[in-house]
Amino acid sequence: HVKSSGKNGYQFFQEQMNTDFSEEFQIQTELREAISTDVLELYYQPKLSTDEQQLVGAEALLRWNHSSKGQISPSRFIPIAEKFGLIFDLDQWVLEHACKSIRHWLNRGLQVPPISINLSALRLRQKDLVEQVEHCLQHYQLDPAYLVFEITETAEMQDILQAIEVLARLNLMGIHIALDDFGTGYSSLTHLKLLPMQQLKIDRSFISDLTSKPGQAEIVESIINLAHALQLKVVAEGVETEEQLAHLQKVRCDEVQGFLLSKPLPEERFVQLLRQYSAG
Ligand code: C2E
Ligand code: MG
Ligand code: MG
Ligand code: MG
Repeated sequence: HVKSSGKNGYQFFQEQMNTDFSEEFQIQTELREAISTDVLELYYQPKLSTDEQQLVGAEALLRWNHSSKGQISPSRFIPIAEKFGLIFDLDQWVLEHACKSIRHWLNRGLQVPPISINLSALRLRQKDLVEQVEHCLQHYQLDPAYLVFEITETAEMQDILQAIEVLARLNLMGIHIALDDFGTGYSSLTHLKLLPMQQLKIDRSFISDLTSKPGQAEIVESIINLAHALQLKVVAEGVETEEQLAHLQKVRCDEVQGFLLSKPLPEERFVQLLRQYSAG
């Protein structure tokens, strides 16, 4: 593309790159500010057991309410935060806010299921991650069983031995680990038995084609059987139709998450759900 369009094409390419960069740079500047003001918010998406559809957990998902651009998606700003080294402060903000909310819910007498937090793979390389987590749990007087960390295998996780060590230390504390977006990107079968973890989340892309694409149902069933053989719980992400849910029940997927069951909810709405759950 660049070669064939000659000098002008190259110049265009350069300009495009500069525009992308300055836009990203602006986002990171504003994001830095957002962390210290209160425009970030956590939403919670319920996780249900596949059979009885009981609330078995929830995933905390970051939302950024930008003053002029509206809500910016984490799939846009998380990669920028990773690129500019802001992810450490951002994920620490999420950890603290989630712990603070859990403590608050418990104080109100609510029954709280484990809350999953997404952890950037970059954070597994952070020297004091385990200490920060310990400190946060201590500060809010929380049992580690209230937390699950979701990690995605990425290029950043090249140092598998280091990742194993950090995850094992978190496990020892009593925090469960889930492997997110399984089946995409860098996920590898070898790592499945090496990484200390308790849950495997099948990526949404497998679920959306589950009942339409030939062979997809077989792949999903094999992933579930493999995970069960390794004593892992399986969570299906992105369940959107009754048909998908029925199929997941048939192949004994343990837990489901998706718009069919519930969208990610703002905190007040999630608390309403916790109230029903605690009363029932
Ligand atoms: P993820 O951890 O795989 O989260 C699932 C994403 O799928 C969420 O998007 C969720 O809103 C969306 N989703 C859930 N059910 C459905 C469904 O039925 N259909 C469709 N089409 N989508 C569904 P979201 O909230 O935009 O987050 C995107 C990604 O950003 C997350 O993917 C996660 O990798 C990252 N992320 C979000 N919050 C955080 C955070 O606090 N820290 C870090 N490091 N990453 C985060
Ligand atoms: Mg996740
Ligand atoms: Mg995912
Ligand atoms: Mg993800």
